[in-house]
Amino acid sequence: MITGTTKTVGIIGWPVEHSLSPALHNAAFGQAGLDYVYVPLPVRPNELGSAVSGLKSLGFVGANVTIPHKVNIMPFLDEIDRSAQQVGAVNTVVIADGRAVGYNTDAEGFVQSLFTAGICVKGKNAVLIGAGGAARAVICGLHNHGVGQLVVAARVPEKAREFASGFSEIKVEVQGYGWDEAEFCDALDNCDILIQCTPVGMFPHTEEEIHFDWARLNPAAVVCDLIYNPPLTRFLLTAKARNHQILNGAGMLLEQGALAFTLWTGVKAPRQVMADVLQQDR
Ligand code: NAP
Repeated sequence: MITGTTKTVGIIGWPVEHSLSPALHNAAFGQAGLDYVYVPLPVRPNELGSAVSGLKSLGFVGANVTIPHKVNIMPFLDEIDRSAQQVGAVNTVVIADGRAVGYNTDAEGFVQSLFTAGICVKGKNAVLIGAGGAARAVICGLHNHGVGQLVVAARVPEKAREFASGFSEIKVEVQGYGWDEAEFCDALDNCDILIQCTPVGMFPHTEEEIHFDWARLNPAAVVCDLIYNPPLTRFLLTAKARNHQILNGAGMLLEQGALAFTLWTGVKAPRQVMADVLQQDR
């Protein structure tokens, strides 16, 4: 029951009506017996600053941040935690004593989803397809856990190179190639973990698939797709048919949420109930 002492958390984005996070976190708060409620908060891009002030004025204890606000919210916060500085984006805000602090749980959430699936990161070679915000978080998470070589491929070679060069300030070595370039195919030979980081194949465009030379991919490589809707993209179905271990984005969604839950409450997240919510949505 919501009362005068209930603590409030929200998700700010534009749009937010399709977000699974309210169901995920309300189920988790209930399971943990915590007097918290989580609400969707549609915030137009030009109202981001006033929305952050509003969260503070209204006594919110935190928020998630989603598209298109993850980068643009940063100047409106009082402090940026190292996790968000590294990724250059905030997906979680903690508000205490009138101060809003921005964190990023996507990077660590991705790696935790690998660990849960029994996949080791240290010293492994990773290849990413796609050079956007999610790819940057994945690279930071992998780097923090001692990954070996990091290669990024994008459809436009210049974009891949520019993206890769953006990691020098945090001293992470990343090679960027166009996905038709020979160096990318060479990287596939030695790849231990392949991660699909574009929206290609996501609902409702489930017939779309990234095409590359599967025959070049190390047969022992684990194949991941950050997409969780549908649970099995065409990309993952192809990987499965070629006997690769596969992993979709549901684990990352769960783990980033579990980390955010702990930041707001100081309590370990009830991950099974959160996993059940995500499963029900399928
Ligand atoms: P983004 O910043 O927009 O980046 C998308 C990347 O994909 C860019 O490199 C873009 O290339 C490329 N791309 C887009 N459409 C393409 C197409 N039709 N063909 C080839 N490349 C294409 O997006 P993002 O935030 O990184 O998100 C990427 C995916 O990750 C989305 O599906 C998102 O839902 C998923 N995601 C999942 C989680 C999770 O918790 N599981 C978390 C975050 C994101 P160009 O620059 O050339 O357009």
